[in-house]
Amino acid sequence: MNTVQNLIDILKQAGMRITPQRRAICAYLAENDNHPTAAMIYDDLKAEMPSLSLMTVYNTLNTLANLGAIHVIGQAGDDTVHYDADTEPHINVICINCQKIVDVPSEHLVEIRQDIDRQSGYRLIGSRLSFYGLCPDCQAKAESSSGH
Ligand SMILES: [Zn+2]
Repeated sequence: MNTVQNLIDILKQAGMRITPQRRAICAYLAENDNHPTAAMIYDDLKAEMPSLSLMTVYNTLNTLANLGAIHVIGQAGDDTVHYDADTEPHINVICINCQKIVDVPSEHLVEIRQDIDRQSGYRLIGSRLSFYGLCPDCQAKAESSSGH
């Protein structure tokens, strides 16, 4: 998991000026495991930081993602890109109804990574593995509305 400081260091190394806005975005990423979209970060931070622009959020996320410091999960059925600040190998499970994304650790991932490493010859820097489905909340709602 990234710390605030290590995200800030990565932005500095990329030549970005560390403004209070960018610092707040880094802190948000380090402190939340909600797999936010740019809009979620903007909405959560703008109350205490009126000078924040959505463009700054996008730029900062893009830079961090391009450098491999955070992962782009892609959309969760909501046509919006989600980001993950946890770059340790883990699996994301995505609800296609409410777009909730949770992390599931799996000891098998280490073996899979070793397999890919051996077979591809690539120097691996990360992985993304997502499963899609209905979360327990949405399953319960679907069942109660179908009259069972
Ligand atoms: Zn759901």
